[in-house]
Amino acid sequence: MALAYDSYFYGTVCHVCKRNDANGVKLKRCGGCRMIQYCSQQHQKVHWPLHKSVCTCIRSVMHNRGVQYVFQRTCEGFSAEDWCKERYNVMLLTQLKLGRRLSEGEQQMFMFPRVCKVCHESDQEKLQDCKNCHCVSYCSISHKQQDFLRHSMSCHWLKLCFYVDKHFTKAKDPYPLICVPIRDKYEPLPCDLDAFISVLMTYSKDITKWNQPIEVALLSELLTCPLTLLYALEKLETSFSKNLVIHVVGAAAFECIFLKKWEVILHCLPQLTCLDMVFIGPEIEQGFETTCMLCVDCQKKGRELSTHFQSGNLYHQYATSETFLMPDIIVAYNCGLHECVGTDADTWLLSLPFLVKFNQTPLILTSYTIDEAYRDFARILDCRKDSLTVSLKCAKNPFASKRPYRDWGSENCDIFFQNNFITLVTPH
Ligand SMILES: [Zn+2]
Ligand SMILES: [Zn+2]
Ligand SMILES: [Zn+2]
Ligand SMILES: [Zn+2]
Ligand SMILES: [Zn+2]
Repeated sequence: MALAYDSYFYGTVCHVCKRNDANGVKLKRCGGCRMIQYCSQQHQKVHWPLHKSVCTCIRSVMHNRGVQYVFQRTCEGFSAEDWCKERYNVMLLTQLKLGRRLSEGEQQMFMFPRVCKVCHESDQEKLQDCKNCHCVSYCSISHKQQDFLRHSMSCHWLKLCFYVDKHFTKAKDPYPLICVPIRDKYEPLPCDLDAFISVLMTYSKDITKWNQPIEVALLSELLTCPLTLLYALEKLETSFSKNLVIHVVGAAAFECIFLKKWEVILHCLPQLTCLDMVFIGPEIEQGFETTCMLCVDCQKKGRELSTHFQSGNLYHQYATSETFLMPDIIVAYNCGLHECVGTDADTWLLSLPFLVKFNQTPLILTSYTIDEAYRDFARILDCRKDSLTVSLKCAKNPFASKRPYRDWGSENCDIFFQNNFITLVTPH
């Protein structure tokens, strides 16, 4: 288990305590890799046993390239795509030398190195960080000005992202409690997640203790999956019986951690007594919690939330297995159907037909960006074109998460959100 502070990398702050110049500390750079900073010798020492091996490998890459900074070659006007490839290649090269998989935090050293946002200049002495978000740097005033408009769209989100990540390195129980009241009769969802959360906050007793932007972001991260599903059900205008079987396909930590969030569905659908959640996907890990205790009210009503995990299985394998439970609705969050098309890594290829195999069983897809949403949708159309009712087509999801993540692959947009776009189709 990695130490919390080591799971996130920001090149502009002390890696251990996440403080920066604005906190009155003078940061010092690791003399080996020149990629990571510390507020004090003490914090450098604390991190050294964890950093030593990767530092040595980065130094060896620098030596082979005859450069002072590992990304030095890249300031010669790389295109966005080249810059992406460059970071990826250096990351793989380092990993190869290291002989083990880089940790999440180590990967971020290569995804988000401290370089000029405009020209990728890596001379650390030349760089100045954005004074607000501390997430981007510039080699000159003119490059800062050149990027001003673009960056002003994401600066506050990047700042929030940093504070949420920092929150995870400090807080023992990082997630706020979910306190969605039980409905006696069905109430339509409010217009969006913000509206839903602002109603919730009126129920919260210790509201003054809330660090609002962070708590709201984290609460939205928990609520986005169940509410996206409820939103789709509302669009379908079909009524379900007392039991609901949901298949979450391509599930990973995002869906399986904090299982209690799924209880929200029981609280919002009064007629429901039994909710069966089947999580299917190669990324489901051992060690996730597997059961969840329902609230006292749900227990009194005899309600059940059953969770089943098909770890290591792809959907077509599960769909043809003996344990298969017929779904009422199938959902693939942040599905990435479009990724890896035509390559050996395309794990969706054989599973796709099963997503739209069952007549009258709706399928929900969500995607990070609109571009990805259209490409994901196209793949579904390839499988089943004619007999498909489209209720939502690559629409902005009003119940998308509000928790920003840094996007290392896109030059235009620095951040992305979970479940940002939604598609809803039903085969008939
Ligand atoms: Zn420190
Ligand atoms: Zn180092
Ligand atoms: Zn520059
Ligand atoms: Zn900024
Ligand atoms: Zn409950």
